[in-house]
Amino acid sequence: MDPLAKAAALCATLAALSAAAERGSLPRAVSPQASETGGVDDALSSACPAGTLPDGNACVPVPEQAAGAEELSAEQNTHRDRLGRWVVYEQIPRRPERPADYRAYRYPVPLRDGQRFVSSGYDLHLPSASQRRGAHLKAVGHGGIDISQARGTEVRIVDLEHQVGDAEVVLSGELFGNSVVTRHAVREGGQLREYLVIYGHLDGQAPGLRAGMNLREGSLVGFVGDSGSPGDVHLHLEVRRVRDGVAVKGLAPRQLVHNARTVVCDPRNVLPLLNATRTP
Ligand SMILES: [Zn+2]
Repeated sequence: MDPLAKAAALCATLAALSAAAERGSLPRAVSPQASETGGVDDALSSACPAGTLPDGNACVPVPEQAAGAEELSAEQNTHRDRLGRWVVYEQIPRRPERPADYRAYRYPVPLRDGQRFVSSGYDLHLPSASQRRGAHLKAVGHGGIDISQARGTEVRIVDLEHQVGDAEVVLSGELFGNSVVTRHAVREGGQLREYLVIYGHLDGQAPGLRAGMNLREGSLVGFVGDSGSPGDVHLHLEVRRVRDGVAVKGLAPRQLVHNARTVVCDPRNVLPLLNATRTP
């Protein structure tokens, strides 16, 4: 079919569909906002200008909700593993409004000017063929950010965006080489969600660090190294959202990164922005 005929056919189809909708022969879309605005007086609600909500007899401005505070949704993807099997997994891709440039964020290690610091970025949202793979790599695809830094560089905790309270150490031991895993409560979509941050391939953990400790922003978690990735000194930084109802305390290290318990997330969704003003 030539392009013009194709366009004409499409127009005809759309016209027929909208006519059907007007006759009521197609189901009406239900507004997903319905439940969120439940309880608001409709008459007053419509009398209040955009960006405000009725409060008694007045219209008050709605507190501006930062983009990252909305509920993140997981998507399904697949890739072919090193044994040739298709693996289906869930992952939370970067929200479009979060900067793609890795330099826009604050990390647990300092970045040097001009340094090509990300040697491998998050790629689990990409088609299988575009994901990281290679003979020397244990995993197909990459659910984190590899940050090149000198051996022994201090790794210090950063608070995630919309984090509530301190982080808690969940693991100080073996996972991706010497690793530390911290748990963070994050306000998201009007509720608290739990996220794990994984610091992998450490030269070692901070002295005295153990599961159950609370850590404030800036606390030392360990030192950059190449444990589990000999010759490739870097920090593997991975973020995972804990599934509803899963208690991560006491889980075996491999269970912390199991798709049934936690969903891998593009770290850029929750890492603090470099230029953001810190909320107290
Ligand atoms: Zn990595």
